This record gives sequence, structure tokens and C-alpha cells, in this order.
Amino acid sequence: ARAAATSAPITPGALADGTPVPLLANLGNAAGAAQAVELGAEGVGLFRTEFLFLSSANAPTVEQQRAAYTELLQAFPGKKVVVRVLDAGADKPLAFLNDAHEENPALGLRGIRALRASEDILREQLTALAEADKATDADLWVMAPMISTVEETEYFTTLAREYGVKTAGVMVEVPAAALLADKVLAIADFASIGTNDLTQYTFAADRLLGSVAAFQDPWHPAVLRLIHETALGGKANGKPVGICGEAAADPLLAVVLVGLGAATLSMAPTALADVRATLLQHTLDDARRVAEAALSAADAASAREAARAASSNTD
Ligand code: PEP
Ligand code: MG
Repeated sequence: ARAAATSAPITPGALADGTPVPLLANLGNAAGAAQAVELGAEGVGLFRTEFLFLSSANAPTVEQQRAAYTELLQAFPGKKVVVRVLDAGADKPLAFLNDAHEENPALGLRGIRALRASEDILREQLTALAEADKATDADLWVMAPMISTVEETEYFTTLAREYGVKTAGVMVEVPAAALLADKVLAIADFASIGTNDLTQYTFAADRLLGSVAAFQDPWHPAVLRLIHETALGGKANGKPVGICGEAAADPLLAVVLVGLGAATLSMAPTALADVRATLLQHTLDDARRVAEAALSAADAASAREAARAASSNTD
């Protein structure tokens, strides 16, 4: 109420022609929810649950998790909240879950692979989410990280639905899942593209390693083509595909992502204002032209340049 009396209300994300592009928040804990709402987040596109697990020697109890998820969902009445189940791996190892001695943690037992090997942890998390969902009236969506096969998609969505999850989806952050998105999205209710890992795995370049940091550029047409393929897989099945990696926070790249077929964009709340403003300067036709220009480039720098040129032609 403090700010609402004096400042204009923040409008929902949309293109210049009125096409809605819901702008969502990436959150790492429920404490960030209030600020996200203040900055105009229309919901949560990625709630990372690792924080609940990383701080303790044992897995948190169902009760501890239920309390945290309830606090989050209560901050978004009637709004979409996408919660990602635990994404642990040897890069952020949990004593009770991971073998910390893998030589290539990013390629090891992480995400859904680790959860599957310790299914009790996944079942407890789904129990806590279902309980929090019942006690609140947000629109809860639940997704699994590091999905790389159709079979894993089937495994996760079947299990999640057993616990009463109404909207069960997957993260697309491994090229194999992007390439088979038409099959993955025949089963999953939605997909959210994690551009950080998708870029890492497209270039086989560790996203945490400074010496190969130059590869970590989501503007690269190799990544854009995988994003496009994923969006087409969603379209073929009538399922929404959103973006929740850092790429969505770059205003011009956000236009490209919408042009490639992304239905929603999720980002750090502080990035919402700039992305909202830039989307409002482009129609859907503009966005498609800007995306096409980036998609046909040969490298990241030319994709950026081509998108910039195509974007200024639309003004
Ligand atoms: C991603 O990989 O893009 C993503 C959103 O997940 P995280 O950064 O948590 O791996
Ligand atoms: Mg990821």
C-alpha cells in the first residue's frame, strides 16, 4: 500500500500489439517473494529448492519443507508458481545424496538422476508440495531438473501426478531433451528452458570454469536453434514452453526468445523492469523477425548484431 498510493501500477508483461508475455521471478527462497511482487512479478517461473537442503547435514523433514513451500505459495494467491524439485549434484553435493568424488560432476548423477537414485527424497518433497498446495490457492506447477530422456519425463510426471500434482513438467537444459521436445511435451504438461545449463551442455564447456567462460553465451545460434526446437515441440502438443535461465534477463534476447516461441519469461526480479519496457517496443511480428535474424547468424556476436539491426528497423 505504501508505494501503490503514489506510483503507477506495473502493467503485466506484453508486446506492443498486446500479446501477453507473463513475466515471472526466479527465486531461491520464500523471503524474496515480497520484493518480487513489488517489482511486478506475475508469479514464479523458477523456485530453486536447493537452499532447503544445502544448509543441513540431513534432508529437511516433510514438515520443514511444507512450511517453506506454504510461505512461498501464500505470497502468490491465484498466481502461477513453478517449483523445481531438488537439483543436487557433485558440484553442490549433499552428504545424504551425492557421491562427491565424480570427476565430471556436471555430467554425473545430478538433478533427476540423483533423485531417482534416492527416491525417498523425491517422494518426501512431492508430499510436502502437495500438502502446501492444498493449504493455499496459488497455481502450483512442479518440474524436474536435468531431464535428458522421454523415459525420465514419463517417470517424473507419473510420480508427481501420483502425489496430486496437477501440472507436472520438465526443465529442458540438456540438448537431448530439446531435440526430442515433441516427444517430451507429448507427456509433460509444460517445459521450462534452463539456458544456463543448455548453453553449458551445447558447448561441452563447464559453466563454472573461467577458462571456457567465452562459450557460455546464450546468444549463440546453436543454443537458439535448440530453444526454437523446444518451442516447436510445445506448439505441436499445445503445451507452454517458458524460459527460466539467465538469457531471459537480457532485454533484446528476451525479444528473440518470444520470437522463437517462448510463452513466459522468468528472471531475477531486478531484471523485470528493463525486459518489460523492451517487450513493449516490439510486436509479435517484430519479435519473430528479430528472432529469425539471430537464428540465421553463424556465431553469438553476429546474432547479437543481426538482432540489434532487425530490432531498430522495427522502430
Ligand atoms: C539453468 O540451468 O538455466 C537454470 C535455470 O537452472 P540452474 O541455473 O539452477 O542450473
Ligand atoms: Mg540448470
